[in-house]
Amino acid sequence: KIAVEIENLMFFYPDGNKALDGVSFVVPERSKTVILGPNGAGKSTLLLHLNGLYTPNRGKVRIFGKLINAENIREIRKKVGLVFQDPDDQLFASTIFDDVAFGPQNLELDKKEILRRVEEALKAVDMWDLRDRPPHHLSLGQKKRAAIAGVLAMEPDIVVLDEPMAYLDPRGQEEITAILNRLNNEGKTVIVSTHDLDWALEWADYVVILNAGRVMAEGDKSILTNRR
Ligand code: ADP
Ligand code: ADP
Repeated sequence: KIAVEIENLMFFYPDGNKALDGVSFVVPERSKTVILGPNGAGKSTLLLHLNGLYTPNRGKVRIFGKLINAENIREIRKKVGLVFQDPDDQLFASTIFDDVAFGPQNLELDKKEILRRVEEALKAVDMWDLRDRPPHHLSLGQKKRAAIAGVLAMEPDIVVLDEPMAYLDPRGQEEITAILNRLNNEGKTVIVSTHDLDWALEWADYVVILNAGRVMAEGDKSILTNRR
């Protein structure tokens, strides 16, 4: 089964910069998929299309077979959770608890269900004990884990993370990798952008190689071993 299908995606920034130039690929359901490419390849631009934050200039994005459109965008955002590269773009409440509760509150769930989701999400990233802290006082690794919890509290089927390892020390990277593995083991499709070939080799089971807004190659991890 296919979780995400991208067809001939084109995207121009307002200054005319062509960030995506006819991108097509699929993401198998329940896979650990890496979007691998150097800085400027178009990874962030691509990921912002997966939950409808960006609208393609041309081409199609399908989530579980459904084309993203104005009518289903709320449904799509429940299915696809996007974690930004910089957690400061995502954390704005006065405590970690309130930050993670924000999404479920917007779904108008009852208080008990909100608490259940926040607790589960924060425990999944080992941040429950820090729930009363203000986000800006945390370490980068803690902020990143809190931002992931905010996405998990929406209980998405697909979790998308933009360069989650960026600027983390080896221990922080290991913590994030362990979280990604657990999410995948629970049955979620996990999509991660990175420029790190070694990490992709270690973690991914499916790979899309992106360069200058185009897909260079797509397939299981063996497409990487040929490139070493
Ligand atoms: P990556 O995530 O792989 O580093 P990006 O998606 O950030 O790549 O960028 C793809 C291309 O689009 C690059 O050429 C980048 O300079 C350009 N770009 C990114 N954001 C903007 C923007 N806000 N305005 C204009 N060009 C942009
Ligand atoms: P509001 O300030 O919007 O009224 P609350 O602070 O009452 O929201 O929080 C909503 C729910 O979450 C309540 O059931 C509350 O007990 C619980 N809650 C709030 N903060 C925490 C926390 N740090 N740890 C555990 N439960 C919390």
